[in-house]
Amino acid sequence: MNQAKTITIDGKRTSFEEGETVLQVADRIGIDIPTLCYISGLQATGACRMCLVEVKGARNLLPACATPAAHNMVVETESERVVRSRRMNIELLLASGNHNCLTCEANGDCALQELAYRYKVETVRFAESPSRYETESSNPLIIRDFSRCILCGRCVQACNEVQVNNAISYGYRGSASKIVAKGDFPYHESDCVFCGECVRVCPVGALIEKPSRFQGRPWEVRQVRTTCPYCGVGCQIDLHTKDNKVVRITGTEDVSPNFGSLCVKGRFGYDFINESKRLTKPLVRDNDGFREASWDEALSLVAERLGGIRSKFGPDAIGVFSSAKITNEENYLAQKFARAVIGTNNVDDCARLCHASTVAGLVASFGSGAMTNPIADIENSQLILVTGSNTTEAHPVISSFMKRMVTSGSAKLIVVDPRRIPLTRFANLWLRQNLGTDVAWANGMMHVIIKEDLYDKAYVEERTEGFEALKKTVERYNPEHVASITGIPADDLVRAARMYACASPASIYFAMGITQHTTGTDNVKSLANLSMLCGNVGVPGGGVNPLRGQNNVQGACDLGALPNVYSGYQAVTDHSIRERMAAAWGVESLPASPGLTVTEMVEEAGRGKIKALYIIGENPLVSDPDLNHAEEALSSLDFLVVQDVFLSETARLAHVVLPSATFAEKEGTFTNTERKVQRVRKARRSPGKARQDWEIIADLSTRMGHPMAYRQGREIMHEIARVTPSYGGITYGRLEKEGIHWPCPTLDHPGTPRLHVERFTRGKGAFHAIDYLPPAELPDQEYPLYLTTGRVLYHFHTGTMTMQSTGLNDLVPECFVEISPEDAREYGVAEGDVLAVSSRRGEIAARARISHQAVRGTVFIPFHFAKAAANRLTNAALDPIAKIPEFKVCAIRIEKAQELSAPAAMREDYEA
Ligand code: SF4
Ligand code: SF4
Ligand code: SF4
Repeated sequence: MNQAKTITIDGKRTSFEEGETVLQVADRIGIDIPTLCYISGLQATGACRMCLVEVKGARNLLPACATPAAHNMVVETESERVVRSRRMNIELLLASGNHNCLTCEANGDCALQELAYRYKVETVRFAESPSRYETESSNPLIIRDFSRCILCGRCVQACNEVQVNNAISYGYRGSASKIVAKGDFPYHESDCVFCGECVRVCPVGALIEKPSRFQGRPWEVRQVRTTCPYCGVGCQIDLHTKDNKVVRITGTEDVSPNFGSLCVKGRFGYDFINESKRLTKPLVRDNDGFREASWDEALSLVAERLGGIRSKFGPDAIGVFSSAKITNEENYLAQKFARAVIGTNNVDDCARLCHASTVAGLVASFGSGAMTNPIADIENSQLILVTGSNTTEAHPVISSFMKRMVTSGSAKLIVVDPRRIPLTRFANLWLRQNLGTDVAWANGMMHVIIKEDLYDKAYVEERTEGFEALKKTVERYNPEHVASITGIPADDLVRAARMYACASPASIYFAMGITQHTTGTDNVKSLANLSMLCGNVGVPGGGVNPLRGQNNVQGACDLGALPNVYSGYQAVTDHSIRERMAAAWGVESLPASPGLTVTEMVEEAGRGKIKALYIIGENPLVSDPDLNHAEEALSSLDFLVVQDVFLSETARLAHVVLPSATFAEKEGTFTNTERKVQRVRKARRSPGKARQDWEIIADLSTRMGHPMAYRQGREIMHEIARVTPSYGGITYGRLEKEGIHWPCPTLDHPGTPRLHVERFTRGKGAFHAIDYLPPAELPDQEYPLYLTTGRVLYHFHTGTMTMQSTGLNDLVPECFVEISPEDAREYGVAEGDVLAVSSRRGEIAARARISHQAVRGTVFIPFHFAKAAANRLTNAALDPIAKIPEFKVCAIRIEKAQELSAPAAMREDYEA
């Protein structure tokens, strides 16, 4: 029998695991050895020498972080010799720059200051050596005070090994040592992407978030944990508030999905919460424009105009746009309001514009339309295939998981994308497909996998159906034929197919590059086919994983803000479900036919069939396709109510505007892209008379004769759990520490991080035999270039939140037209030239950005900017099943244009 190996630290004898360091063992048994450079989970560098300990028998003091525990080792962590060494070390560090703590932002939260106190360093015997480097405050978000830098290197490790941005390193030598960004440029002129990970780990006051400077001492601020309001990753964040103002955001440590990391938007994009241009009172339009009104007047007017069967419009002439920005509880009430109070199923959310095809495709293939695996499963993957997702910019924290796996050699990465997105730098293989040819390359990969007998026969046999039809269809997609459609070289396709099939498990991650097509549903089914063919669904590290764009787009769908289902995807056409919901809501009946989608409601508004819209937290006049047409349609409405935080482009058209609260002023839940229901907590009071969205809906409902007497979000969640099987076991109490993945049917159910493990939700996984269809519009002589649209790292969606942030606006101040150097040469375009970009539907003007990210023949324009709205150009052609528009492909032409009179950038509500 093996005898346990033991070590004695400060007189405490304990066993240890092979490979544990002295520092780790000490930490485990509650002995605090001080460190400055060590980051748990990363390779120890031993740079700071603060953790030196005395090991019996060793001549020198040894760094605890880098010394492996050994059998019978005896360690002293606070011996006289150790303490003397630490005091000397602290003195040298204090003398190495400017460490006058009086106005240092880190005062009270500084590891060096803490150690000076702990080891009673009252005087410094060495002369202070002034820093040879000026403080960098020229970049908009992070102050780099080199006089306070102790060169511990934590920032370098965090940047390179945690976020894998590789933006900083040690520079120069000896006393000239400095942490430098590439070329020793300021952050904003380097590869830095302002994730702030370096600030997070800096143990002293050398790196400081600029916006939070002089906004409050650590002991003056209150911290409230909540969930990030931007993308679907659902990072856990702490809001730091002082005097009812959010003064800082940090990532919550030790909790998934982000474990303290954030991206630039999550960390720095909070100005909008405090912004003085927030809506604070209801507005009612009269002949002279908007005037302020009381809640009583505004809601009475809305109730009167939308009054269900008493309204002159009739229920089905009214529509409700719910929102991916509001909470689950609020989405639930919005659809309840539409169905039980107005009497229509015309309720939808903006998933229609991003992932409706995911839901349709994955439901058809697997029986459930959501991400199959948890985010953390990336770490179990041997191969990651990313397609149609610019992950580093749209879901940055997830991209860090991927980059870590690739750079550590634990997984291979295939990127399939029409642009040379940043992730291609990490890819083992980049397949560059022509826009809108995703079915063809997926069929091509399956052709190779089946032909070479690389598929998982047992899995296909036992767990799926429809294989023979699939096999017959993909037979036609030999690599040469696929190359003629997609532009992907045949050899690369074969290589990708072999890599994917031979890795076990292999995962697929995708986003709007796959879904926003007239063939969006087919594209998603094709990815599901590929994954099932190789036995990758229902296994750790595998799966088909849609990355949802907005913070709560998953929740908006889950809670029934869709025209065909109640919460939990229960069909409105099912008589027994309808009766059950009617009984739960205390109404005699509910409408039986599916309602109109967002895209159809806009279309029908233009035709006069939809007379009134109640739009909550969305801004279709920037986010919808073919905006000129959408603008006309919304302008023709008899009655438009917009409930939002700012006077958005859409709100400007409204008859009544209702001011709502931001996420920072709410109690509720969001559901992130991995189906994890997480808490949203109130950190401040709303400005003026702004109210939480659920309070407004409940008040309106009560005025319309259907009392909703909820006192808090918690009560709405109780009702959700009662009527929604997949949320049946969810309570706020259970979410207190960490979120829960649905399905979670009962109070004792732990949640379901991974779907389809034993069986698919629909029983057997369904293969779909699908043929390639071209996009609705292709380039021609008149419009010879492809346009594709998407996001940039520094802005979000229609910019209503990020464009209130000075720092983010400084980094990306205006819209741009990204074109390849080849196209630039052909059209005689120089960097910064103003281009008029036109399609059959409209024209915009913005500056050219010549970039190797663009590939010849394809132009990219971000869709965030209202004043140069890419969606004036996009095509509103719809996927016939999911009704999602083809945002990702249309034909355009470019011409040089006059200088812009104002930057094609800022929102009007941002401008002074
Ligand atoms: S970095 Fe720490 S020790 Fe130096 S001035 Fe700031 S609080 Fe004081
Ligand atoms: S902000 Fe992020 S990318 Fe920039 S240097 Fe710091 S860790 Fe690196
Ligand atoms: S990755 Fe997404 S959820 Fe996380 S901080 Fe950034 S925007 Fe927020």
